[in-house]
Formats: sequence, C-alpha cells, structure tokens
Amino acid sequence: KAQAAVKIAKRSGKVEIYRNGVLKEAQRRFSVESRLRDALAQGGLTLAFQPLIHLQTGEITGFEALARWNDDELGDVSPTEFIAVAEESGLITPLGRWAAYEAAQALSRWDAKFGQPLPVGVNVNLSPIQMARDDVASMFEEALRYSGISGNRLTAELTESAIVADPEKAKKLLFALKDLHMPIAMDDFGTGYSNLASLHSLPIDILKIDRSFVSSMLEDRDKEIMVRTILSLAESLGLHVTAEGIETQQLAHALQNLGCWQGQGYYFARPMAEADAFDYWRARWNFETV
Ligand code: C2E
Ligand code: MG
Ligand code: MG
Ligand code: MG
Repeated sequence: KAQAAVKIAKRSGKVEIYRNGVLKEAQRRFSVESRLRDALAQGGLTLAFQPLIHLQTGEITGFEALARWNDDELGDVSPTEFIAVAEESGLITPLGRWAAYEAAQALSRWDAKFGQPLPVGVNVNLSPIQMARDDVASMFEEALRYSGISGNRLTAELTESAIVADPEKAKKLLFALKDLHMPIAMDDFGTGYSNLASLHSLPIDILKIDRSFVSSMLEDRDKEIMVRTILSLAESLGLHVTAEGIETQQLAHALQNLGCWQGQGYYFARPMAEADAFDYWRARWNFETV
C-alpha cells in the first residue's frame, strides 16, 4: 500500500512538473507576445547590420539587417524566439514593415553622413507568413520612396518554404520586386525543399548557403560536397552565391578558392549597430578585408 502511494505521489509529481513546464512555456510565450506588441508600438526594436564581403576583392558589398530586441523586463530576446512569436501572433506584419523601413532609412542616414550614396546595399529578411499576409511589394515600394533609396540597394531574403507554400503568389511577388529593381536572395539554401524548377523559373539572383553546411565543410566531407554542389548549380543557373557562417580564415580562403562570390560570418564581423556599421564600412571601403 505504502509503495503504491509512493508510486502515485511520484507520478503526480511528474505531472506537476510537466504542468509547470507547459505553464511556464505558455507564460513566456504570452509575455513575449505582449511585450513585443508594446516594443513594436514604441520603437523598442533595433536593426543590427552584419557585413557582406566580396570574397574575391575583400570589398564590403552590403549588410544583412537583423532584428534585435532588448526588453526592460525580458532582457535580450533572441530573434529566433521573437520572430517565431511574431509569426504565430500576426505581429510579423508590423515587424516586417518596420524592418523594411528601418533598413531603407539606415541607408539614407549613411548616405547623408557620407555626403553621397554608399556603394553598399542592405538585405532584409522576409518571413513566409509575412509574405502570405501582407502586400510585401507595396511595402518595399513605399519604404524605398519614403527614404529616397533606389531598389537595387535593398535585397529581399526569403526562404524556400515561402515559395513552396504558394508558388503562384510567390512568383507574382518576386516579379513585382524585380519591377522595383530589388535583388532577391534565397536564404538558408539547402535546408528546405530545393525545387530546382522554381529556381530556374523565378527571378532569383543569389543563393545563400546555410551556415550548417558552411561551418563544418572543412571537417565534414558531406557538407563540403553540398557546398560544391550548390556552387556549381548556381554557376549553371547564372546565380551568385553567398556563404553564411564563415567563422575562420581557413573557411574564408576555402570558399574564395571555390569561387564563391560573397561571404558573411563572425570571421569578418558580427552584426553591429547602425553607427558602427557605417564606421566599419568607412574605415575599410577602399581597402581589402580578406
Ligand atoms: P538568417 O537570416 O539566416 O541570419 C543569419 C543568422 O546567422 C543571424 O542570426 C546571424 O547573427 C548569424 N550569423 C552570422 N554569421 C555567423 C557566424 O559566423 N556564426 C554563427 N554561429 N552565426 C552567424 P540572428 O541575428 O540570431 O537571426 C536569426 C534568424 O532570425 C535569421 O536567420 C532570420 O531568419 C531571423 N530574423 C532576424 N531578423 C529578422 C527580420 O527582421 N525579419 C525576419 N522575418 N526574420 C528575421
Ligand atoms: Mg537572412
Ligand atoms: Mg541566412
Ligand atoms: Mg541561416
């Protein structure tokens, strides 16, 4: 009897722990959503800018704009967490709009500081949910017009899943972005359903090889094969390739030798604040960084 009671207690204890876990998760999710809603309304998010480096010349060709959020109560919340919450809650629409405007505005503030347009662009990430719900083409058109930035300086980064979700809609959107002269990059390439036919029929300019292939390509033969395959696929389709997650000089050199166009990663620079990104660019713009 006593043993049975212990068993029940143990089991209900587990249930209690499980309940607490679920409850904590739900509470976290709830507070992230409500704090994020306020942050978006009050200008509490910022963009960090990570340099994109031309691997053959070492020039800084642009920056990827990455959302950052430091909340008074929650502290730093990682984009992986708050982007997911934004996607589930519908907040991805205002967040995505904010990011597009802020990226275009950053370019126009840099141009003003420099006294003429910088020969760099900014990449903006698009969520598949945002693409399904919002008119992303007019969003960019308005952001560009508002900031006086030409479309060829804003690159749209989208993922394969956005195209798989609704190929016809994606096609219309991509051609509308092309009408604005915006370059289009496929982010995290290699991790999703790589529909080769759509790569060919859609106006895609750049493949960004996912970090999971790049970072271990020197130790892991399968990863290296993947990187080489993407590079030769891109070459036959006439696309540019950006490698993400370059953390060492050896990786930078390996990708340079493979003829990869552009690189991004901690080896070159971490994402940084808008003013620091400008200083970083100005200090190097006529020097080599590789
Ligand atoms: P992503 O678009 O693939 O962005 C690249 C991520 O890799 C960034 O993470 C960047 O900080 C990180 N990274 C760059 N170089 C290295 C490296 O050498 N090593 C390592 N370990 N990591 C590196 P971050 O900033 O945490 O963003 C994560 C993801 O959140 C992004 O992945 C993107 O999918 C999403 N995200 C960020 N900002 C936005 C946004 O404004 N809108 C949307 N829709 N998504 C965003
Ligand atoms: Mg990206
Ligand atoms: Mg990426
Ligand atoms: Mg990635």
